[in-house]
Amino acid sequence: VEDYRVKASNNMLTIKSANAYLILDAIRRSGPMTIDQMTRLTRLSRPTVLQILEDLSERGVVCCAGPAESSGGRQPMLYQIDTTKHFAIGVDFEFPPMRLAVIDLQGNVRLSKTWDCSYSMDKETIIERLVEAIRASVLSMNLTLDNIVGIGLGIPGTINLHENRPDIISRIPQWNRAPLSEILTKEFPVPVHVRNDAHLMAMGAYNDLALNDGQFLFIAYRTGIGMAIVRKGRLMEGEYGNAGYIGHTTVDINGDFCPCGQRGCLETFSSKRAVEHKYALLSNLDQKIGFDEILRLADHQDKNAALVLADAATYFGIALANAVKMLDISTVIIGDLDCEKDQVFVRTIEETINKYCASYAINPVQVIPWPTDERRNATGAAIYALEKFFDQPRLRLSV
Ligand SMILES: [Zn+2]
Repeated sequence: VEDYRVKASNNMLTIKSANAYLILDAIRRSGPMTIDQMTRLTRLSRPTVLQILEDLSERGVVCCAGPAESSGGRQPMLYQIDTTKHFAIGVDFEFPPMRLAVIDLQGNVRLSKTWDCSYSMDKETIIERLVEAIRASVLSMNLTLDNIVGIGLGIPGTINLHENRPDIISRIPQWNRAPLSEILTKEFPVPVHVRNDAHLMAMGAYNDLALNDGQFLFIAYRTGIGMAIVRKGRLMEGEYGNAGYIGHTTVDINGDFCPCGQRGCLETFSSKRAVEHKYALLSNLDQKIGFDEILRLADHQDKNAALVLADAATYFGIALANAVKMLDISTVIIGDLDCEKDQVFVRTIEETINKYCASYAINPVQVIPWPTDERRNATGAAIYALEKFFDQPRLRLSV
């Protein structure tokens, strides 16, 4: 815990919640601990720690975990996050597939659910299904809305952070500025957070991977290509909540048309859809075959597969090298990529990044594929709602 001196301009209430945040953060990250350990870690006084613990216990956020092991003498009590009273819900609005997860305050998944919508479904039905899924999940866990600290909603496309709504939902063209948070808040009076799906998947990855310094670029390699920027474990949201919208950055001004209306976007070269399309063209196939199968074919000396993937990986690497240089982050995680780190597709991306970063970085950039786990995408949304619940108060701090 860094040593912050809180400026006198903060009022007492803010200082109190900042201190509570320090204690919660310490317990969440380091597990059950004694009051002595908390005072050492947070540098708060013992009476302050005691008072905050009493408050957090009353709110059902922290509870006793039994006595600590001791080498004799009295055994001090351990405190931990209470995982029985409060939960967060996450929804991955990939559309047509929809996913939901419920997690406890420590981030453990307690329930997950998947259902399918269809392109022919009207908006009312899509919403009805969503509301029904949330309600059924709460009921099946024997909970009430008092137990729910928030709902996170991951949207593919772009959002407006200030208005807490999607701007454009990919694949549902006639539904711009959908008032999803208003509708859900009316049904469930808890905080609803609408966010970019790549951002939420990154939070899920951070929760799973326990990256030591919490600095990485996360690529959502799904139907399109999204990106999230995480620094010191905190997501960079951007002005409207769409930071890292790398899929539609231009890599060739004379390139193919992209569904977004521009030419030569990264997605037209490197998305799974582009790879499938180009492989079918090159191999004169009537029907496209899936990206994972093309990866496998490349491993088995299929020249067309190798060619198409090499091309996709090279443009991917160039775009990522630009991002790495701009943001000064040297770990890239590619989410929903089901292959090993030594797969030629991953190696080509990594080699290209390092080639284009050669004049800039001494330390090599590392690319880590992160396999698909559909459940995890909804978990990311729930973790976001949880983070908001634990959020550090907006302090003016001086170090
Ligand atoms: Zn585009």
